[in-house]
Amino acid sequence: MITIHDKTFSPFISRDLIESRIAELSTQINTDYEGRNPLFLVVLNGAFLFASELVKNIPLTCEITFVRLSSYAQTESTGKVRQIIGLEEKLTDRDVIIIEDIVDTGLTMHQLLQQIQALAPRTVEIATLLHKPEAIKKAVDLRYVGFEIPNRFVVGYGLDYDGAGRNLDALYVLPE
Ligand code: 5GP
Repeated sequence: MITIHDKTFSPFISRDLIESRIAELSTQINTDYEGRNPLFLVVLNGAFLFASELVKNIPLTCEITFVRLSSYAQTESTGKVRQIIGLEEKLTDRDVIIIEDIVDTGLTMHQLLQQIQALAPRTVEIATLLHKPEAIKKAVDLRYVGFEIPNRFVVGYGLDYDGAGRNLDALYVLPE
């Protein structure tokens, strides 16, 4: 058990299991992108540990860049929208791989994907450490998924609870 702020979390997925699964994803990416020069687009803050573990095992020539999403901005037509902040690379004709921590409802990823696609990359694929299939509201095509998990709140391995817990080397879950 681990306590962060006012909540106590139970062990969920161990560091060993996380790392061996990420190594499998790296192997898949190595095969899929052989002879190409992919651009990894890491979505901060949550994906930082997943991204570093993933790319450590990728010997391909590749580039890695980091972006953030703005907090929600309301517009009349679309409701809540999060914009990409900090993207300096040209994506035109690039093979882009988005690295995200978790896809929950899919709304964030759906918006991000639309913004990326508007920049005319050659291909875009998504790598996410976690996916909650039961929570999905907007279907997105997830090419590389670390773990499908139940619809419960998790923390650790980059994911936070109210700013804390990102440094934990394993995943923890809020008991039901
Ligand atoms: P979506 O738009 O897919 O509903 O939300 C994605 C974002 O919600 C993630 O990038 C993450 O910041 C946050 N999120 C969703 N589920 C969890 C969770 O179980 N734990 C944590 N720490 N963040 C979550």
